[in-house]
Amino acid sequence: MDDNPTTDLGRRLTRFMEQEIFPRVQEMKAFVAANPPGARPAFMAALKRKARGMGLWNLGLPNLPDWAPGTRLTNTEFAPLAETLGWVEWAAEVFNCHAPDLPTMEMLVSIGTDEQKERWLKPMLEGQICTGFSMTEPETASSDARNIATRIEDRGDHWLVNGHKWFTGNSGVPGWSFTVLIGVSDPEASDYARHSALIVPIDLPGVHVVRDIPVLGFSHRARPNAEVLFENVRVPKENLLGTRGNGFAAAQVRLATARIHHCMRSIGGAELMVSLMCERAKSRETFGRKISDHGKVQEFVALSRIDLQQARLLVLNAAAALDAKGGKGAQAEISMIKLAVARACYDVADRAVQVFGAMGMTDDCPVADFFAGMRALRIYDGPDEVHVRTIARHEFGRQAAQYPEGLLHKFCTDFSDRSRWSGD
Ligand SMILES: Cc1cc2nc3c(=O)[nH]c(=O)nc-3n(C[C@H](O)[C@H](O)[C@H](O)COP(=O)(O)OP(=O)(O)OC[C@H]3O[C@@H](n4cnc5c(N)ncnc54)[C@H](O)[C@@H]3O)c2cc1C
Repeated sequence: MDDNPTTDLGRRLTRFMEQEIFPRVQEMKAFVAANPPGARPAFMAALKRKARGMGLWNLGLPNLPDWAPGTRLTNTEFAPLAETLGWVEWAAEVFNCHAPDLPTMEMLVSIGTDEQKERWLKPMLEGQICTGFSMTEPETASSDARNIATRIEDRGDHWLVNGHKWFTGNSGVPGWSFTVLIGVSDPEASDYARHSALIVPIDLPGVHVVRDIPVLGFSHRARPNAEVLFENVRVPKENLLGTRGNGFAAAQVRLATARIHHCMRSIGGAELMVSLMCERAKSRETFGRKISDHGKVQEFVALSRIDLQQARLLVLNAAAALDAKGGKGAQAEISMIKLAVARACYDVADRAVQVFGAMGMTDDCPVADFFAGMRALRIYDGPDEVHVRTIARHEFGRQAAQYPEGLLHKFCTDFSDRSRWSGD
């Protein structure tokens, strides 16, 4: 019997998923389809109360202050639990562990002032309010964050914000109260010191929600992403998050947590896809045998298992790095998983669509929705190519630090043909 407290939490979480969440999947789907975007069914509040009563609340925040409710699991401890949450798209919210809110809580814990913690973090930890994150812009190539153009002007007693953002999450969800906005506060400063982060309350005059953005034909009605115009918005001075000109560093605190949690939950979702794929393949026959007996389908299943095991081990490696070194120190490991897990889970989703045939393209089963989500994961929180760049940059630096003259040179100093390829 394993008496590790985290294992016990994991067991209780799995039981909760089986007993409370799975039976409501259909009900939630019907509710979301029939109600305005962002609306929540009454059972959501009841589930939250129940989860909290069982100690399954604020699971993924390791650095909470003493006064805050939560389990304070490390990222490594949280990983298997987050996977379990990933089985059902909306489950993480029941335990107050969902995106985009949890990463914003981590940001407030790490760099918020005491007043900001009291005003914004406390109600978030209670599950009373929720937030968006407004970094990227339709008019700028936002994968290079230095392009971000929204203007934050210092007007003495307030900040004046003008800009156009999109994919600001949680639009219309009850309690949607503020967004963390990244904009240019110091245009004359160097590339990485020009931006600042602000807490912008959604109800300020000049904050206009243009629309909820449909994604791959699904409207993401449960957690809509909004296009938002900020027109002459006067933001209180005390809403600066972190220090002026330090917006990218502030965003990184949030993005490290967001990226690793997305990866953890996606692996859980992909596990469900493998399970469904196996069940479906065993249930139908073509050309005189079960679909599961065709070699190609067996390859789909085997490759998916390998992809997920690899992804999981990489995530645990990144979680250990994040626990030990923080977001900046674990930047390479986080980029590796953002790339590798998104690709692995996307491949699993694609195979699941194929095995399900036409059914895999419909909204009658969860496969198509997961496929769309995994396609998006290869773009949001930085597209694959940007993470390749980060990983390569780290690798060149690592090589230079570890083997200044090259690894081969270290072991084969008399390598005769070196001049032909090394450029020396
Ligand atoms: C579902 C979803 C949720 C999102 N949530 C949020 C959110 O909460 N908050 C927020 O602010 N934004 C959010 N976004 C926006 C997302 O973060 C951006 O779309 C992403 O950062 C890429 O920026 P972009 O779309 O401007 O792409 P661009 O910068 O225009 O890049 C387009 C493409 O160019 C290629 N490219 C870019 N740089 C390189 C390079 N160095 N080498 C090779 N190729 C390259 C890549 O293929 C990239 O996909 C979300 C997006 C989606 C789809």
